Amino acid sequence: MRRLALLLVLLTATLPALAQDRRADEHSYAQPDKVRITDLGLDLQVDFAKRQLAGTATLTLAWADEDQRDLVLDTRDLSIASVEARNGSRKWRAVDFELAPRDERFGSKLTITLPRQYEQVRIAYATSPQASGLQWLAPTMTAGGKTPFMFSQSQAIHARSWVPLQDTPSVRYTYTARVRTPADVMALMSADNDPAAARDGDYTFRMPQPISSYLMAIAAGDLVFKPISARAGVWAEPATVDKAVKEFEDTEKMIEVTESLYGPYRWERYDLLILPPSFPFGGMENPRLSFITPTVIAGDKSLVSLIAHELAHSWSGNLVTNASWKDMWLNEGFTSYVENRIVEALYGKERADMEFVNSRNGLKADLADIPAEQQVLMLPPRTGSDPEDALGSIAYDKGAWFLQFLEQRFGREAFDPFLRSWFDTHAFQSVSTEQFVAFLRSELIAKNPSAITEAELTEWLSSPGIPAFAPQTVSPRFAAVDAVREAWVKRRTAARELKTAEWTTQEWVYFLEGLPASLDPERLVELDQVFRFTGTANGEIAQRWYPLTVRSEYFEARPAMSLFLRKIGRRKLIMPTYEALVQTADGLAFASQIYLMAKPGYHPITSASVEALLAKAKAASAQ
Ligand SMILES: [Zn+2]
Repeated sequence: MRRLALLLVLLTATLPALAQDRRADEHSYAQPDKVRITDLGLDLQVDFAKRQLAGTATLTLAWADEDQRDLVLDTRDLSIASVEARNGSRKWRAVDFELAPRDERFGSKLTITLPRQYEQVRIAYATSPQASGLQWLAPTMTAGGKTPFMFSQSQAIHARSWVPLQDTPSVRYTYTARVRTPADVMALMSADNDPAAARDGDYTFRMPQPISSYLMAIAAGDLVFKPISARAGVWAEPATVDKAVKEFEDTEKMIEVTESLYGPYRWERYDLLILPPSFPFGGMENPRLSFITPTVIAGDKSLVSLIAHELAHSWSGNLVTNASWKDMWLNEGFTSYVENRIVEALYGKERADMEFVNSRNGLKADLADIPAEQQVLMLPPRTGSDPEDALGSIAYDKGAWFLQFLEQRFGREAFDPFLRSWFDTHAFQSVSTEQFVAFLRSELIAKNPSAITEAELTEWLSSPGIPAFAPQTVSPRFAAVDAVREAWVKRRTAARELKTAEWTTQEWVYFLEGLPASLDPERLVELDQVFRFTGTANGEIAQRWYPLTVRSEYFEARPAMSLFLRKIGRRKLIMPTYEALVQTADGLAFASQIYLMAKPGYHPITSASVEALLAKAKAASAQ
């Protein structure tokens, strides 16, 4: 995922004590050491009026412990109608089950008591309209305005809100599904979507490669397909599909570049699904069908590193998967590194360096708010309280930085084949940091023992902050931006005379981030008259400009800011403005007002973040 920030709640948990193995998952009730799901068969009806998925989930089981009789599954807000079991193709027989009281973070443990070790279990169930992993959009909230829309977001532990299963990345299984919708609605899954499928309201899917539960995905709406290449294309609402195909036309080239570096793409098709603006994230790497925010359709391909990121997950994350979320850097750090290599190969080193510098500046800014014990790549189990986005930037940007360090010390000629071999030898497996370190020692360090020291390795994995010996990326183009900014801030050059004609989004982001925390409102008026930041369609610029207008008390920006916060539900883009607003009583009132209007269009994940922020600010102001 791009900028995941929902692990906040996961790490404060209290679940039964687990073995010391880093592969153990504190965030699931499942007992995969005793019995595992190997295949899932879904038969679901999509009911837009009830905001509900209802049907059956058939689980095929592999028993590892001969004394085990219970099957423990994760669920959240599911109504369970019945559970049956069988062997082979014999008759189903009803079995006992118990749904534990709901835990705020983990949902309800479902314990199925079996008289013997059955091969299959079938659960009849329905989801709640408030399912944390699903969003239901009325037709008015779509681009076309005529057809309702629904989509899932399962990472990290939301799959359990729409399928009863072992909701842990340490378990992999194949799946098939039959999905019924109203006849004019198209359904898609993280599976073998057929670009030529007839729209008839009855769809079947197959995912023959074993995946983890957080990669379960479903979407339904007025969706049409246009190809980019023979194996890649775009699914989107009719109003959006052409713009998206143009913006993301380099997708096939991205696949080819990644294959040349890290081996064949193993998932057959690679399609993009463009979601409505309420999608809470930048993208989600659902296998064969990345879910993508429309906020990266900038018109100039300046934000397509998001596609590089989601595609890179086809190797790091989907193919080789962190066995538990405390090793999330194995997914996101690797992916952020590979993303940058794809950008470098396609758009050049200058652009790749600018992107590294911007993301590292974000990381450095975040470090101030992250407790030291959470600034490590190899997180201890069950630490801390509310790491929020900050935890993300450690896994993503510090993780990528560590890999760039290894690349520079060992040289690309050794490091690139090493990484390819990591993906090849661990394909379709769930892994821990310990496994990576063992592989690093045997495959890279053993061949060139003087390239890094043991102390350096330990500091990267287990010390807070960024090592002093981390490689520094410099960008000459950003040096030019520094000069332009300084000339304006010191009033040597007026905004209309600044040389910015060739700037890309990356340079504007760097320009805005380097401005003083607040300015006289008339100075923002001057910038706005020339560059028209207020009302910009570019979310990367908006997310930096609006907080600056708040801190500078440039109230003229408020109507456009309010529109932006109501239209967009992607958390990375809107949270900085909410955070700036809640610093003052007047801003808090304004933010609360906007949120009331925006809430019906927000995803449950976004609503939860904004509500938590507002509640905290209100509690602080009441003291
Ligand atoms: Zn990601």
